[in-house]
Amino acid sequence: LEKIPSWRQENRFNEEEEEPELTGEGGGLSDKVSLYKGDITVLEVDAIVNAANSSLLGGGGVDGCIHKAAGSCLYDECHSLSGCETGNAKITCGYDLPARYVIHTVGPVARNQVGTTENNDLKSCYWNSLQLVKEHSLKTVAFPCISTGIYGFPNDPAADIALSTVKRWIKDNPDKITRVIFCVFLETDFVIYKRKMSLLFQDN
Ligand code: ADP
Repeated sequence: LEKIPSWRQENRFNEEEEEPELTGEGGGLSDKVSLYKGDITVLEVDAIVNAANSSLLGGGGVDGCIHKAAGSCLYDECHSLSGCETGNAKITCGYDLPARYVIHTVGPVARNQVGTTENNDLKSCYWNSLQLVKEHSLKTVAFPCISTGIYGFPNDPAADIALSTVKRWIKDNPDKITRVIFCVFLETDFVIYKRKMSLLFQDN
C-alpha cells in the first residue's frame, strides 16, 4: 500500500471520554459482532488484525502464523513501514492470505504490571485498527486477543477492553462496519468472550 496514513494523533483513544456501559441494551449491535474460535489466517474477511511487535518484522504467536500464511511479500512490505509504536496500527496487503489486508497493531507488554498506560494502549490498538478499517472503506475485520499471549496481558480484563472499545466504536460508526469477528484461539478466551458478549451485545 502506498502512502497509508499510518496513524493519526486524533485517533488515539481518549481516556477522558465516558466509558460505554458494560451491560444493558445493545441497540441492534449483536448482528455486527461474531465469536470465532480458531486460526485467524483462514478467515475470508476484508482485514485481519495482527498482534505485532514494534519492529513489524514478524515474531511468534499469531504474528508468526500470519507471516507464514501470507508469504514473504508481507515481510517486505512490513520492512518498508519503519516499525510501529505501541497502541498504533499500520495496514498492509494480505498477499497469500484469504484476507485482503492485514492491520498490524502493537499491544502493550504487560508481563509485570497492568496500569493505566497498558489499559489505554490496549484500547488504542482496537480503536486505531478500526479507524484504519474505516479509512480504507473495509467492512469486515477479525481481531485476535491482542497482548494476551507472549505479552502477558491477563485474559479477562483484556477481553473487557476489546469488547467495550469495539462496542463503542461501532456505536460511533454504525454504518462503517458490517462485522467485527473476535477470533479467539484458546478455550479459556472462548469461554470469557462468550459470556461477556452475551451481556454486552444483547439486543433488547
Ligand atoms: P501478543 O504478543 O500480543 O501477546 P500472541 O500472538 O503471543 O500476541 O498472542 C495473542 C493471542 O493470539 C493469544 O490468545 C494466542 O493464543 C492467539 N493466537 C496464536 N496463534 C493464533 C492464530 N493462528 N490465530 C488466532 N489467534 C492466535
